[in-house]
Formats: sequence, C-alpha cells, structure tokens
Amino acid sequence: MEYDVAIVGAGPAGIFTALELVKRSDLKIVLIDKGDLLHRRICPVRLGSRCTRCKPCAVLSGWGGAGAFSDGKLTLSTTVGGWLSSLIGSKRLQELINYVDSIYLKFGAPNKVYGTDEEVVAELSRKAARANLKLIPMKVRHMGTERAHEVIQRMYNYLKDKVDILPKTEVLNIKVTNSGMKVLELSNGKILKAKYAVLAPGRAGASWMKRIAESLGVKVANNPIDLGVRVEVPAIVMEELTNALYDVKLVYYSKSFDDRVRTFCVNPYGEVITEFYDDIITVNGQSCINKRTENTNFAILVTMNFTEPFREPIEYGRHIAKLANMLGDSVLVQRLGDLRKGRRSTPERIKRSPIEPTLKEATPGDLSFVLPYRILSNIIEMLNAMNDLTPGVATDYTLLYGVEVKFYSVRVDVDPKLRMGGIPGLYAIGDGAGITRGLIQASTSGILAALSILSEMGYPDKDLSLDEK
Ligand SMILES: Cc1cc2nc3c(=O)[nH]c(=O)nc-3n(C[C@H](O)[C@H](O)[C@H](O)COP(=O)(O)OP(=O)(O)OC[C@H]3O[C@@H](n4cnc5c(N)ncnc54)[C@H](O)[C@@H]3O)c2cc1C
Repeated sequence: MEYDVAIVGAGPAGIFTALELVKRSDLKIVLIDKGDLLHRRICPVRLGSRCTRCKPCAVLSGWGGAGAFSDGKLTLSTTVGGWLSSLIGSKRLQELINYVDSIYLKFGAPNKVYGTDEEVVAELSRKAARANLKLIPMKVRHMGTERAHEVIQRMYNYLKDKVDILPKTEVLNIKVTNSGMKVLELSNGKILKAKYAVLAPGRAGASWMKRIAESLGVKVANNPIDLGVRVEVPAIVMEELTNALYDVKLVYYSKSFDDRVRTFCVNPYGEVITEFYDDIITVNGQSCINKRTENTNFAILVTMNFTEPFREPIEYGRHIAKLANMLGDSVLVQRLGDLRKGRRSTPERIKRSPIEPTLKEATPGDLSFVLPYRILSNIIEMLNAMNDLTPGVATDYTLLYGVEVKFYSVRVDVDPKLRMGGIPGLYAIGDGAGITRGLIQASTSGILAALSILSEMGYPDKDLSLDEK
C-alpha cells in the first residue's frame, strides 16, 4: 500500500486533482472516500421516504462528493464560490476557472451559459438597487442533477483504470514521518503510505480536517458561518430573474443589525432536499431537468462573524440545527404568514396554501423557536426587500424550511500552492479546507494542488501550462 499520491475525498476537489495528475504524469495514485460509488449512493429521501440518518450521508459522501446530488450549477465568475482569489489573485483564478470549465464540457456539461446578456443584467441590477439589494452578476453553466451525475460517472469511467479508487474507506488519521512520508490509517485497519497527500474532505469532513490539522501543528482559523432558511415560492414569481440569470445572487445589508444577508443556490422549478451531517438534518435544494416542479427554492443566509473569545462557529451552527431537529424530528417548515403572526404552521395550514411543499418530510412548526431573533429579523427584512424587486416572493404563503447552515467555517492555513502549514507534500483543498464553497472553485483547487505537486517534484513550469492538452 505505497503510493506517490494519496487523495482523501472523491468530491470535485479530489477528482480534479486525480484528473490533472493522470493527464500529466504516470504517478501511482490512490483516491479514498468514506462513501460509496455513485450508483450505490441511495438516499431514502430522494425515493420519497424520511431521512434514515445514514452514516455516512449518501447525499454528501461518495464518488462525486456533495457535488454528486447537487444542482450542478457551475459558477464561472471569480467573485463567488470561494476565496481562492485571495490566495492566487483574480486573474490567475479566472484562467483556472476557464480551464476547469473546459474539462466539465469535455465530460459532457451542456453548452448554455446564463447571465451573459449584459443589457439584461444591467437592467436587473438597476431594479435590484432600487429595492436596496445588490445583484452580483455572474455567469452560470447549469448541468442539473441528472447531467451532473452523468458527468461525474464519466470521470469515474475515465479514472478507474488509471487510479486506485477505494470507496467505503474512511481515513481515520494521518501522520507525517521524519522522512516526509504521509502515513494514512484507514477504517479497514490497513495502513497506506504516500509521498504526497491531498486532503479534500468537503464540508462534511470539516471537523475531521480541523482535528488532523491541529494534530500536525497546522494553524486553523475560523471563517464566518452562514446560517438561515431555504425559501420556496411559485416558480413563476421569480421567472424574470431565473430565466436570465438562473442562479440569482443578491446581497442585502439589514437595517436592524447591519448584517450581510444573501441569497444562495437558487433552484428554479426545483425541490427542497435534506442533508445529514453526522447527527443533524439540514436543508438544501436541487433542480432536476427531468423532474420540474412548480416551485423555485433558494437559501437566505446570514453571515455570522463571531469575536473573541468564541471559537466554535461549527458547534454554534450544529446547535441551532439540532434545535430544529428536536422540535420537528427532522427539519421544520413554516409559512411566512404564520411566522409574522407569531404562530406555528400546522399540517392543515400548510394544506390551505397555494404552494405545495416539495419536501414532504418537513414538519410544520415554528422557526421562531429555533433561529435567534437577529437571524430571523434579517431574513424577513431581506424577503421584504426581494418582494419589491420581484413581487410575490414574500407572501403569507411563502414557505421557509429550517435550517440551512454552511459548514465551511474552518480555514486551514495554506499557502498559494495550497500546501498545508508549509509541510512539504501535504495539501488541503476544497470546501473542507475552508477555501472554496462551490463546484467550480473546489475543482479549481484540485487542479492547483496537482500542479503544485508536479512543480514540487521538479516538473518545469513550461510543462505545467494550462494550454497544454
Ligand atoms: C445538495 C447540494 C447541492 C449543491 N449545489 C451546488 C451547485 O449547484 N453548485 C455549486 O457550485 N455547488 C453546489 N453545492 C456545493 C458543492 O457540492 C460543494 O461545494 C463541492 O462538492 C465541494 O467539493 P469538495 O471536493 O471540496 O468536497 P465534497 O464534494 O464534499 O467531497 C468530499 C468527499 O470527502 C469524503 N470524505 C470526508 N472525510 C473523509 C475521510 N476522513 N476519509 C475518506 N473520505 C472522506 C466525503 O465522503 C466526500 O465524498 C451543493 C452541495 C449540496 C450538498
């Protein structure tokens, strides 16, 4: 069990590391994931049952990572989806994003890109500004959940004979020997050694990443945490925006708290889904090309910056999510009108609504028992502002599911080559390292890690140019 490169996590970050290394070298590579292969990742919720709290969660873990069941929105702008520009600069990031996009296209992503009509974008930005909202323009290639599956499966077919792939295998621990060898302790009792290791454990592995980093003496900082709800409205209400932009990134600064509030992951004609992080159930959304619903869903997230002495934002988010699970035995759903009137939603009230919830397992309840006043006020303020931009978003029947929380709040100390804590041959990438939060930047970080490994091995720069196919 000795390799040149061991990659932990078969999400987009890990897969793109492998794709790039295979293309440019004949290194002996192993790709390890605690989840299963794509065709064996079966989520009961997607089959219409309740969340059975699988360990690991089939939505988040396995070949394709959290991206496998994602809506497959490839955001092609540098300003969203992560913080890589702070490490390598926007110009280099855009070059890498274009390169990554070309690889997605090669594996079957569709040609259409949203958000390219500058006049339409300018007009929508004007309308947003009048409603006290800032529209973040961005180009989006939308794969949809089924196409994203196909693309990821093709990547597997391409890699399976070139790389050793170990599904259903968790990396429990990593040590670095005096000679720089990385020693990985696996859940099947085996020990694996590699000269280079790339850690790409995703959001579900953020706590694991923190533990490993600390055990290796690598500094870990806290990113802000994003907490909020998923909103569901009739799709026609948002069509003007979603037809032009698909994913609509709006930012609002709340009057009461001056907090940054934003929309995230808009899914036109989509459905609300659950995710299971260790012991908590949270919400997310997806949009399937072959299974259009009458609703559009999107998250409203509040960015929470904590100050000293508090250092546990992940725990904070988990506690809030646990409250919702405690009250509802799963996630909660509430009509905006009920929230405004200070009463819970009941199954009867939900039934007496023109909007049919797409997530059947959500329990009608009261989000004011779960979310702090600060977060709820911010969300309601933003919905009211959005209603000025696109009337119908904040009616009494608008559905709010809670909670949605983004666990990319641990940021591992990496240099512009994505080397972790300056340790030679050890790299931290993707959402789990706290440097990305979307498919494109996670994939980009994989390419960067591969190029850095080859450069560390002595490959000349001219052999590492992106034009080289
Ligand atoms: C439902 C959903 C919809 C989304 N929609 C979009 C979208 O439309 N557009 C977009 O840009 N982003 C979307 N995202 C976010 C996107 O999927 C992530 O940003 C991206 O997958 C991060 O890639 P990653 O490789 O860093 O981590 P992940 O994709 O999370 O992969 C990490 C992998 O590491 C494995 N792992 C973790 N710890 C260990 C360990 N100790 N040992 C072995 N394996 C381990 C996990 O099992 C997992 O498979 C969505 C996410 C979800 C959950």
